[in-house]
Amino acid sequence: EQRTNILEFKGVSAGYGGVTVCRDVNLTVRPGEVVALIGANGAGKTTTMRTAVGELTPISGQARALGQTRRASLPQLAKRGLSYVTEERSMIMTLTAAENLRLAGVSADAACVIFPDLRPLLRRQAGLLSGGEQQMLTLARALARKPRLLLADELSLGLAPQIVSRLLAVVRSAATSDGVGVLLVEQHVRQVLEVADRVYVMRRGRVIREGTATEIAADLESVQRAYLMGD
Ligand code: ATP
Repeated sequence: EQRTNILEFKGVSAGYGGVTVCRDVNLTVRPGEVVALIGANGAGKTTTMRTAVGELTPISGQARALGQTRRASLPQLAKRGLSYVTEERSMIMTLTAAENLRLAGVSADAACVIFPDLRPLLRRQAGLLSGGEQQMLTLARALARKPRLLLADELSLGLAPQIVSRLLAVVRSAATSDGVGVLLVEQHVRQVLEVADRVYVMRRGRVIREGTATEIAADLESVQRAYLMGD
């Protein structure tokens, strides 16, 4: 069981201070699969991600990432092969793309294998790259470190659909070709369903539905109606 699930939540409740946001969440991610977490704003997706990466400690239940359970910190998890990327621009904007990679201990060549389009941008200041280019750099930096588990929280927030597909295609290929297990939070539900294997639908802190991407896609209207209802 520990070998197959690189991320596993058993009855996890989590939140902030005295406020419980996520309740009784059960989920798993196995190597090589892309799992999507969808739901309306405020459903608890980011809280789930932050619990998975050790930024939040479960109030109850068990969250296990890469075999670590109790109070694993993000740096400890990173050492074991976890990468966490978010919509926040995580580069040092006054340094070049190449310098940002080097700071993370990643070679420019390794990053360009993942996104060849980064090659001509390496000497450019990160702050002068477009939002999409910055996120390609972020994803390349994360994947070049050969993680076993990638958690991506709205990596493509605010980006053009074409860039979203390119980022998602790279995520898919990391899972298929390199066996990376992926948990994705995305607003671009239709696009994410094209690359995901399985989906969890959250509403008001709970998982209200789960299924294969094919099942959820076939029933997307009713799924969206269910999670948007009353919110
Ligand atoms: P979004 O797509 O808007 O990011 P989400 O599904 O990721 O939504 P969360 O960010 O997990 O949802 O937020 C769920 C609830 O937790 C919201 O009601 C939010 O106000 C609350 N919340 C989020 N961060 C904090 C915090 N640092 N302190 C207190 N409450 C918070």
